[in-house]
Order: sequence, then C-alpha cells, then structure tokens
Amino acid sequence: MAKTSDAKEVKTEEEVTKRSTPEHLWFIDGESYDLTEFMPKHPGGAQYLVFPGNDLSITFWSYHKDPVRNKKVLQQYKVDVPDARPNRWHLPDSAKFLLPDDFDARNDIKVYNFDPEDKKLVLNECRNQCKNPAIMKDMRRLDKMFDEHCMYMRWGYIAFVACWLYFGIPWYISMPFFAVMRTALGGAGHYFTHRPQPSGGGAWSCLFDMNYIGVHITLIDGHNVGHHAPTMSKADPKTGFFGAMMALPRLVRVPCFTLHKFGHFITGIFIKLVEVHTFPDAPLVKFSHIKKPDGSHAVQRICWASWLVHIYLVAEAVAAYYCGLKYDWFLQFFVSLWMNTLMVVSSHDFECQIIFEKDTDDWGKFQLANCLDLTITGNPYVDCWFSAGLSPHRAHHIFPWQRSGYANVLTTPIVEAAAAKFGLKWEAPRSLFGSRLPSIFKAYILGPLADPFTRKVIYPSFYEEHTHLAPYLECLKFIGLGFTGIGSL
Ligand SMILES: [Zn+2]
Repeated sequence: MAKTSDAKEVKTEEEVTKRSTPEHLWFIDGESYDLTEFMPKHPGGAQYLVFPGNDLSITFWSYHKDPVRNKKVLQQYKVDVPDARPNRWHLPDSAKFLLPDDFDARNDIKVYNFDPEDKKLVLNECRNQCKNPAIMKDMRRLDKMFDEHCMYMRWGYIAFVACWLYFGIPWYISMPFFAVMRTALGGAGHYFTHRPQPSGGGAWSCLFDMNYIGVHITLIDGHNVGHHAPTMSKADPKTGFFGAMMALPRLVRVPCFTLHKFGHFITGIFIKLVEVHTFPDAPLVKFSHIKKPDGSHAVQRICWASWLVHIYLVAEAVAAYYCGLKYDWFLQFFVSLWMNTLMVVSSHDFECQIIFEKDTDDWGKFQLANCLDLTITGNPYVDCWFSAGLSPHRAHHIFPWQRSGYANVLTTPIVEAAAAKFGLKWEAPRSLFGSRLPSIFKAYILGPLADPFTRKVIYPSFYEEHTHLAPYLECLKFIGLGFTGIGSL
C-alpha cells in the first residue's frame, strides 16, 4: 500500500486488508482517514464517528469553529487507499428507518465547495465574522444564560407536576402549561445534542424526548448528521417526516397517528431502546471495545438518560391516572404531541416541495435559501423557547456548533449581513402560528391520501379515499407498528 507523506505507517497485513474496505475508513474531501484511534480523542465525542464508510465532508466543515486547524490535526490519521470510496451511507438495522431503501449518499447528496480560502462562500464569510473575540465572549455569556434558564424551567416543570398531581390544577391551565413547557424543554434538548457528547450536553439531551416526538439517541445521526448537513436531500429524515401518516385516510389520520404515538410512548420506545443497546451492529454495542485513556467507554455503553426520561414520562402518566387526571393527561399528550409534530417541519418549506438554489455548490448559500426563521412573540430570545429552538433557524444551520438558541439569536445579524453582502434574499421571520402551522396543517392533515415516499395521490376523490378497505387496514397496521417501535423516530 502506498503511503502519503504525512500518513501513518501501515504495519500489518491485517491492517492493510481492513483499511481496504470503507468499513474501516472515514472520508473527508475525497481523502481517506482511519479514525479508529482518534475516536476516543474526538473533542466532539465519538458518537459523531460511529458510521465509518460515510463521507463526512459536510459535517466536518460545518460543525467546527475552525475546521482548517482541525484538518491539520487529522493529517496524522490520513491513509492512502487506492480505489477506496465512501459507501452508500451505512446505518445499523435499528436506525435503517431513517433513510429511504434506495438512498445512495454518493448520488443523493451533493458535493459542495468548502475551500476555506474562497472568499465568495457564505459559510466562510459568516465564520470569519463570528471569530470576532467580542462576539465569542457574548456567545459564552448567552450560552451560560441559556443553561440557567433551562435549569429554572426544569425545576418549574417538576414543581408544577407535583402541584398538578396533588391539587389537581384545572385542564385549561395544565394543558397549555404542558404544551409550552414540553416544547421549550424539547428545544433545549435539541441544543444539548448539538454540543460535544457526552460531556457537553450528554445526559440533558434527553430533554428532547419530553415532547413525545422522538428519541434523542437518534439525534446525532438523524438530526445532526442526517438533517443538518444534507438539508432537504433524500438523507434528511425531516423530508419524509409525515410520510407514513400520509398513507392514512384524512378523516382518521389524526386519531390513528395519535394512537400510533401512544403505542410508541407505552411500549414502542422501550423496544427501540432495547434494539439500540443490543443489536450487534448498533454503535453502542459495536464500539463498546473502544475506551478512553481513563478506561471509560468512548461511546457510552448504556444510555441511561434515554431509559430514565421514558420511564419518567410513563410514571407521570400512571400517577395522573391514579390521581384522577387521566383525561387531563391525555389532553396535554394530544396537544403537546401535535403542536410539536407540526413544528418539526416548520423551519423549512417541505410542504411546498420546492428546493431553492438546487445547483449551487455553496453549502451556506443553500442553507440560507432553504431555512426559515420563525417568530411568535417578536422577542427572539423568548421565541427560541416557544418554537422548540427553531426560531433563529438560519443561524442555527450556518453555525450548528453553537451551543444555544441564544447564541443563534446573537449571530443572526452576521448571517443577515452575509446575505446582503452576496446579494441573497433575506426573508423576514415567518409567523409560526399565523403562517407556518396553518400551511403545514393544510398540507399534511387535510392533504389527500398519498404514497408515503413519492407523495403521489392514490385515490381520485375524498369519497373513494374513505370507501376503500385497504387504507383502513393500513391504519390498523400503522397503529400496531407504534406499539412495536416501528414507523416513527
Ligand atoms: Zn439542530
């Protein structure tokens, strides 16, 4: 095997064979790296590196504050393997549902120009402006404030639940409280998953699960790598987020989806958690032999936070039942679930199925054209909580390494200035309740029954959609799948 000038010495025949397969290589900018030894040293956490064989170029260039410096560090892990190329994107069996069956990253994800010297790239302009020491100082202050506010919310939430169970707070107070708090805590959990794992946000990432939508354990690959890097491509799990629901007749779509998620809440999620802890190809199992210098697992072996938050949520429901609050509990479950389900896709125009700047090789330009900022109260720091962290979304996509929504709010003017400098459109934030949610509701809740993947309408009329047997059988299957942990995040 040839060796590059700064590549590591390849010592054994076994290692040569290993490195000839994408399963033992990571790819950045068309170059091959063997990051096995680097995994426990990665400051962002080993979790970002648990899918060897994949091309990490977009993730690498967008998730680091100073990627040029990071690239120098990586040089020692560079290997020259002739003919090696990335695979289609390998995911373990437990996470296969995140991608369409025919997905091939080599064709379905565009190759972008990340040349750090290219002054015409939006990402370079934004990154350079963000390096200003005064901005960085403000960012650290705001991150700290974000964490403090999150802590107050956690305590406030626990205190409210205790009072609710003990005194029986009326539904018209408890329902909006839970819907808003679950949205805010879910948004905080989202930002914690963007931090180095597990030391930065690790355990608190589980707050993401408080809104009944998903499992934070899938966020590193599903959200951070799958959604952020190749936004709106076939790799983006948000693209098909409503897919399975669209195969249900619209008159029964809401109750069926609610039952599906209820099944997920009761048993499905626990089956999913058993899978990610036991499947031989699941990262928690596959990389359990890689240890840090202090002897701890580089990739956590058991994700306690996931188990605890879901056991807590079920315990909360059981306690409500015994305190005579079962209808109140279900009402808040329904409203929290639907508010957050609709919100998941609100910061991109998925329902229009129009992708702007499709041909650009400027990744930052693509993000600016296809991400939306949201507004609710008009105060961006407050809206950050009400929108599950989705309101300063353009800055969040340009700077996914930032640790909080407040930092995103702070740097939004930098992104706006870059847009002005390059003559790009800068749309005012859209109203979440006035504009985005009605549009999403119309497209997904009132939209005709369609193929889950192609979204092709199946029946010619509302009448036919509701008088054929097949869609109702699909409803029963969909509800059942929820209880088995299949069919949603
Ligand atoms: Zn995010």
